[in-house]
Amino acid sequence: MHEPTPPITNANATSAASGPLPSVSATHDWTCPFCPLLCDDIDAHLSDDQSLAAPATQCARLAAALARYDGSDNVCAPSIDGSPVSLEDALEEASAILMQARRPLFGGCGTDIAGARALYELAAGCGATLDSMHGDALSAATLALQDRGAFFTTLSEVRSRADLLVVFGCEPAARHPRFYERIASGTSTQREIRFVCCALDPAADTCAESMLADASPHDVLAFWSAIAEGRKPESLENGSGIATALASLMERIVAARYTAFVIEPAALPQPHAALLIEALHRIVKAINRTNRAGVLTLGGADGALSVNQTVTWLSGFPLRTRVSTPDRPPGTPPLDHDPYRYRTERLLAAREADALLWIASFDPHPLPAALAADTPAIVLGTPALASALASAITSPNTQPRNAKTVFIPVATPGIDSDGHLFRVDASVVVPLHAARHVALPSVASIAAQLVDHLAAGRAARAALTRRPA
Ligand code: SF4
Repeated sequence: MHEPTPPITNANATSAASGPLPSVSATHDWTCPFCPLLCDDIDAHLSDDQSLAAPATQCARLAAALARYDGSDNVCAPSIDGSPVSLEDALEEASAILMQARRPLFGGCGTDIAGARALYELAAGCGATLDSMHGDALSAATLALQDRGAFFTTLSEVRSRADLLVVFGCEPAARHPRFYERIASGTSTQREIRFVCCALDPAADTCAESMLADASPHDVLAFWSAIAEGRKPESLENGSGIATALASLMERIVAARYTAFVIEPAALPQPHAALLIEALHRIVKAINRTNRAGVLTLGGADGALSVNQTVTWLSGFPLRTRVSTPDRPPGTPPLDHDPYRYRTERLLAAREADALLWIASFDPHPLPAALAADTPAIVLGTPALASALASAITSPNTQPRNAKTVFIPVATPGIDSDGHLFRVDASVVVPLHAARHVALPSVASIAAQLVDHLAAGRAARAALTRRPA
């Protein structure tokens, strides 16, 4: 059930000392959009000042996210260079920026599937490049998939089949606080967890141990690949103990019914995380010759996974793709994907992007540090971003921006609007339902209005050039 219900228990609704307490309504089985686990078992409590809480759910990330929303979001106005303006004026200015730009960049891309579809159309209307604020982690996983393929598993499979979890180089609960709860819910499977190249995750249960916590992930995977292909540890051992420890882990994996490897590309050492992911998938491939194993990849928050999937099905390429306009110069490909060239930080630092459209509709991620003060920026952001942006524009500690900065507050999918997101394992699209009643436009509706403004601007320009002298 997703509709907010009438006011619930408020036993102290009146108090002689403090007057009436605000009424609270609850949405049961609400889906949290703040990390890609997309927990759908939450009771979201809405106060009549439009603030939200989930007191029965133990999740620090959710609590911190909900604390950013309150009644002031209702009056959060669009702005240009920090001064409030009407939505129409903000759209006019934003479309003027995109019309003038020759190489616009759509960065952040923190939105849902509908937002991604609309942004793709807008990108095709102005020749923009699309990247995510989590582009490094996404690209590492994509590169490994493109080069060698992958053995993926899903949350459901981990929950129902995995009796051994091998967590490689990450702390799952740090960014996905209910990870262990989610893989344990509804099952009595006894599960052992081995942490390799990392310390024990404090949130893990007692059947867990850590090994090779301080070893180099590259060294460990090199030894592990050899052992998985049948090399004897004695022939590899160099005094580090790595080969012997991995041989014993492989014995445990062979004895397991199903081993789920858990990785988090954002936690792996950059810039060569793709090599590590590829090596791990090759080891899992070797295990699958005689046993069963799969890899669960954590990441894709802020809608990154959903935007990547959407752009891929629309264009055939993942993020870090440039979409050319129909009237592109001869010799320009309609689509160009390059995970290195079209990295946000590189494009901005090298001045290869002359306008930035920054989208952050979930968490209030600030503008990238590499954005030059004279590069115009349009921000479609959650209301919590408004004050951070205003202080970035006016702070005496930062270089004053001398190019336009347009801010348009937008709805957070699952908070202010309905929507859809891919779950962490990319196997399920989960519907989101608004938890409160604040009238903010969605990213999709703003992007669609910008498409219309650009079309109107182009038509006006064409009419001018056709006018007889
Ligand atoms: S674990 Fe993630 S999806 Fe679940 S409640 Fe916490 S932030 Fe939300």
